[in-house]
Amino acid sequence: MTTSIKKTKRRKLIPMTPDHPKWSEFIERLCGSEGCDFRGEGLEAQWNCGGGRDQSKATAILKKMGNINIEESLDYFTKHGGYCDCEIVFNVDPR
Ligand SMILES: [Zn+2]
Repeated sequence: MTTSIKKTKRRKLIPMTPDHPKWSEFIERLCGSEGCDFRGEGLEAQWNCGGGRDQSKATAILKKMGNINIEESLDYFTKHGGYCDCEIVFNVDPR
């Protein structure tokens, strides 16, 4: 009797969190022109963000980086106060 067991190779994608080796790259890109584009300093500081629950810039960057569990990442950000793109930089980044 033969049994064939189909082994499916399922690579588990890990979410982007501060523990991820590419976390600093992610934050750098989110601060840069493809993300919030932070410019100016102190009271003059300006950046782009949709506010509310807009995590679209972070989502786009994670998609470009690849091999990231985007859904779990956004969930993690929200749980740590990163409701919108700039709050991910302000509240989730431990630096
Ligand atoms: Zn924001």
